[in-house]
Amino acid sequence: MIPATSFQGKRVALFGLGGSGIATARALAEGGAEVLAWDDNPESVAKAAAEGIATGDLRGADWAGISSFVLSPGVPLTHPKPHWTVELARGAGVEVIGDIELFARERIATAPTAPFIAITGTNGKSTTTALTAHILQSAGRDTQMGGNIGRAVMTLDPPQPERHYVVECSSYQIDLAPSVNPTAGILLNLTPDHLDRHGTMQHYASIKERLVAGSETAIIGVDDVYCAQIADRLERAGKNVVRISKRLPLTDGYFADGSNLMEAIDGRYSRIAFLEGIGSLRGQHNAQNALAAVVACLKVGLDLGEIQAGLESFPGLAHRMEQVARKGHVLFVNDSKATNADAAAPALSSFPRIYWIAGGLPKEGGIEPLRSFFPRIARAYLIGEAAPAFSATLGEAVPYEISGTLAAAVEHAAEDAARDDTSEAVVLLSPACASFDQFKNFEIRGEAFRQAVNAIDGVSAIGGAR
Ligand code: ADP
Repeated sequence: MIPATSFQGKRVALFGLGGSGIATARALAEGGAEVLAWDDNPESVAKAAAEGIATGDLRGADWAGISSFVLSPGVPLTHPKPHWTVELARGAGVEVIGDIELFARERIATAPTAPFIAITGTNGKSTTTALTAHILQSAGRDTQMGGNIGRAVMTLDPPQPERHYVVECSSYQIDLAPSVNPTAGILLNLTPDHLDRHGTMQHYASIKERLVAGSETAIIGVDDVYCAQIADRLERAGKNVVRISKRLPLTDGYFADGSNLMEAIDGRYSRIAFLEGIGSLRGQHNAQNALAAVVACLKVGLDLGEIQAGLESFPGLAHRMEQVARKGHVLFVNDSKATNADAAAPALSSFPRIYWIAGGLPKEGGIEPLRSFFPRIARAYLIGEAAPAFSATLGEAVPYEISGTLAAAVEHAAEDAARDDTSEAVVLLSPACASFDQFKNFEIRGEAFRQAVNAIDGVSAIGGAR
């Protein structure tokens, strides 16, 4: 745990007692703060109290004596309207911050040279975070990974000069971290998302921009117009900006040319790393993630040999285009995390010959946005409540069956793919749907896929993903 010593002797109010809230309350108390914690859910309050955290209704608190208010990132700060605790804090002139801010202040106070890589973007945050941490770790660096992935940031080990932090930041967390100041800040991409919580795209983009604006080096994916504008603006303001692109040959920066990762200096190109043959990093979207990780690792002093070795041994993340098993020329891929059409697009664009398992609880828009990938789909196997709607969209364009269950879909897709005469046929679970009609969450759906695949005679499991 990281004791929040910069709050020593201060009174701090805290709202939101989920896992990260409890961890933050502990870190504050350990650092010597007097904490008053609360939640709208009485069960969460009781649980925190049972763990020795001082709880009390913040409506009755003496806000004049409180120096900071720590809010859980899941609680609305601005949209659709500020939570009642935010109104109280603002009314009393108390700052509203989150756990990433606590971490940033602690690092600056205790080990300001500890390398800190922070990652945000609409898509690819977890993959880039895990990949960066993996490369650092495999190069022998003391590495701590957390934030919006895995462990809450204040449960990591305390800052030391040679300790590297790789922290995934959601927009909610950045909104609560006014002085976040990473050594390298990564902004991967921006597409409309979570607008219910951020109001407009401009507001959402401006929050994400803050992470890179506060960084020593800002690593920005310039393949969308929002990020390209942010890169230009920060550069004009005199920031150190490094542009990355998954498709453009930049004049200065880093870009992907097929599976080669290139460095461009004044229009001269050289290959610095490659992704050829790395199963966990297939697809153009992963070239963007890999470029960001590579540039961040270069920034903290890794050499190209260490970086290439880390890329090659990256096990990938479970349920995100995870290669689960092989049988002859058939590859089985679990992309259960793809719960809408946008999220399914990268997997569908990464494989040329697909036996596609899709369906579940349908989202608005269905699979119409995926039409351009239909020629890659040899056959579709539809499951769950979305099956009738998806079959209507596929129509004459793609042969399909309504398999009903995931188990039946896997069995039939495997049989059909085995007869395919291309060099690699992929049985892909990329449902473009939520799982709740048949599974508790996407992880359980992905595990069910893995089990069904591994039960097929003669398959060899591909180990590794976490
Ligand atoms: P996040 O943490 O931002 O949700 P993940 O790394 O968990 O992102 O990836 C989730 C899904 O998003 C992946 O399965 C893939 O379909 C898609 N994805 C990953 N990286 C990118 C990227 N750089 N650009 C677009 N989509 C991506």
